[in-house]
Amino acid sequence: MKSRAHLFASAMRLFVRCFRLGRRRGQNKLIRRLRELWSYGRLCLKSLFYNSFTNSDTIIDSLFEPIYWLVDHITRWFGVAFVFLVIVLTSSIVLIVYICLLPLILHTYSLAWILWHIFYGHWNLLMIVFHYYKAARTSPGYPPQIKSDIPSVSICRKCITPKPARTHHCSICNRCILKMDHHCPWLNNCVGHFNHRYFFSFCLFMTMGCVYCSISSRNMFIDAYNAVETYYQTPPPPYTSKERIFHKCVIYLWVLCSSVALALGGLTLWHAMLISRGETSIERHINRKEQHRMQKKGKTFRNPFNYGRLHNWKVFLGVETRSHWLTRVLLPSGHPPYGDGLTWTHYPISTRNTMLAI
Ligand SMILES: [Zn+2]
Ligand SMILES: [Zn+2]
Repeated sequence: MKSRAHLFASAMRLFVRCFRLGRRRGQNKLIRRLRELWSYGRLCLKSLFYNSFTNSDTIIDSLFEPIYWLVDHITRWFGVAFVFLVIVLTSSIVLIVYICLLPLILHTYSLAWILWHIFYGHWNLLMIVFHYYKAARTSPGYPPQIKSDIPSVSICRKCITPKPARTHHCSICNRCILKMDHHCPWLNNCVGHFNHRYFFSFCLFMTMGCVYCSISSRNMFIDAYNAVETYYQTPPPPYTSKERIFHKCVIYLWVLCSSVALALGGLTLWHAMLISRGETSIERHINRKEQHRMQKKGKTFRNPFNYGRLHNWKVFLGVETRSHWLTRVLLPSGHPPYGDGLTWTHYPISTRNTMLAI
């Protein structure tokens, strides 16, 4: 009897132990399962957003993405309005020159001066119209979207395509641009490899045109300004409404041309300096950073696209012979730039006396 009770007690103890053990194993299994689910959820979340290029810049870019999107879209729409503004303002100046300035030149100047004004004014106008049209309508150049053997320096994070040297992504055009300089809202186009010369020539000839108009109309401006000053005297001066419109048109002509000459002249000089150094606007910032970085290491930075001042200009303008200074620079010319904008290894003009001045 005693042994039976002992056997029963032993069986009960074993059962209770097994039950406790089972409960602990069940708890561990539940915790493990929950941990697995948590890890799986995190992995799923990361797989949606993670790539090997993710860093703090990417996160900040992502946070500011809606603002960038808004600015880019506004700039895109403003581009159309800006082009319209350029055409309207330029046309208004040309109209005032024909109506107000040209009759005065024809009546007061000698024949030689009249001929010079007619020749220079029309040549300048032709160069402005030609280069503006070409700069706005010529594609700046895009890298191929398909896989190719073209040497690339990095991958565009937006296009997910290889980027050749000097290529940068334009967030307004939403694509990569060959030898990108900047996006110009006044052209509603990017300035890149194939229209850089047209852009610079437009800036240069527009500045020259504005300087010409400002200088030619300065005496008329002084007279018109003095006349307007007397408008509010008593008794009022006997100017007809036609004369008053004439005064205001001359003041508008001089103020607008002088302001544009100053602003655009500064921009043209800046771009001339960049071209002399064989840099684009974007490369100027990159090269300056690189220069400081190399300086700290005690090394000297050399721009691989700088062929020397004169050669940089020859490459930029496409001048191979002396006659090209006339036919390709001083006259409207639609010749394409050297190279395809994809590879940048050698000095493109092959002449006997050419020396690389890197
Ligand atoms: Zn891109
Ligand atoms: Zn662009």
